[in-house]
Amino acid sequence: MRAIPYYAEHEAFVDSVAKLIHQELAPKISEWERANHFPNEVFKLLGQQGYLGLLISEKYGGIGGDYKLAGAWCEVFGELPSVGLTVAVNMHSLVISHALEIYGTEEAKSKWLPKAVIGEALGAYAFTEPGAGSDLAHIRTTATRKGSTWLINGSKTFITNGARAEYILVLTKTDPNAGYSGFTTFVVDAKSKGFKVSRKLHKLGWHASDTAELFFSDVEVDDSCILGKVGEGWAQAAANLNWERLMLTLTSLAGARMCLETATKYALERKAFGRAVSDFPVISGYLKDMERKILLGEALAHRALDDLSNHRDCRLLVAAAKRMVCDDAVWIADKAIQIHGGYGYTTEYTPERWWRDLRLMPIGGGTSEIMGGIITKELARG
Ligand SMILES: Cc1cc2nc3c(=O)[nH]c(=O)nc-3n(C[C@H](O)[C@H](O)[C@H](O)COP(=O)(O)OP(=O)(O)OC[C@H]3O[C@@H](n4cnc5c(N)ncnc54)[C@H](O)[C@@H]3O)c2cc1C
Repeated sequence: MRAIPYYAEHEAFVDSVAKLIHQELAPKISEWERANHFPNEVFKLLGQQGYLGLLISEKYGGIGGDYKLAGAWCEVFGELPSVGLTVAVNMHSLVISHALEIYGTEEAKSKWLPKAVIGEALGAYAFTEPGAGSDLAHIRTTATRKGSTWLINGSKTFITNGARAEYILVLTKTDPNAGYSGFTTFVVDAKSKGFKVSRKLHKLGWHASDTAELFFSDVEVDDSCILGKVGEGWAQAAANLNWERLMLTLTSLAGARMCLETATKYALERKAFGRAVSDFPVISGYLKDMERKILLGEALAHRALDDLSNHRDCRLLVAAAKRMVCDDAVWIADKAIQIHGGYGYTTEYTPERWWRDLRLMPIGGGTSEIMGGIITKELARG
């Protein structure tokens, strides 16, 4: 990892994560990308080292760290050239388990969290549906009271870890007439009767990560599976998405830095017309623009992370950072391909995978267009 002054207090942590990922995981990434799968042993390895419990309290086996520590993790773990794997891990450990600890009942937390932090039980978060992504208020999955239990019916799509998750946080509608107070999230055991992984999706990138379509037919859950209270699902989703978006932003920054590093090295080594291609002003100009975008992205993302860590309202900053950094990361990966010339288009070099993988970042967790809408709304709010 390039030294990032912002994380100076976590230098030792960053070094040990960097060592682990570059020595143990990076050499196997290409094989896993080709196999369209990475083994669950990755989660277990990270769990053994305590890395799956960064935001989870010691009571459940975590280390009780804060968002800044989690941010440092995102920016070093994001150096792995497999954004799908990185986000699969981060969704499980930083977003899903974290949300379960904040909102879950004691029964649900004791059931899942001790296993989650050692990588023995994996989580997924299911908001999106075939007919509702950006327009989440129009989800059709319902949870209806039946005596002392609830029955969940509906389908979800694009769910990261969906095919391997043991527990799934499912956003449902519990009262179609209650507007934003009509949503409730349940934690569903994937072994429940009526739950099915309908199919795994084939994608442009994120090949090692599974993205699945899920089906719920009269899946029975009891009150211990409710996150918070009935009707609080929408507010919880908004808070979780804010952190998820920042996690994706910090992960994208790491990918953008890796593209810059790879492109700089190549431009210095590759000769054309008797000189290094980095000597051509147009190429050195690309490299400078890449660096400038990364510096700006860092400034915005770290300010948002500061605000989140200090419990300040950061919806505007997070939306602005996600939009800028995620869009720029794709631009940076594209320029890395360009600087590599024909080799950039081959799988012998990493920029093509960075480009395919980073391309999801302006879509996942809320698109750049939706971020634009939030920015406009927040600015108008003053
Ligand atoms: C690999 C992958 C992993 C994912 N993981 C998860 C996961 O784990 N859990 C989960 O719940 N979801 C997940 N998603 C879903 C992702 O969050 C959605 O794809 C995303 O929110 C966009 O929704 P959509 O695909 O339905 O696009 P749509 O909402 O149909 O949007 C289509 C286009 O219209 C634009 N648009 C829509 N509304 C507006 C508007 N108001 N103003 C301007 N433009 C607009 C969008 O920006 C986009 O360009 C994942 C997706 C992928 C591809």
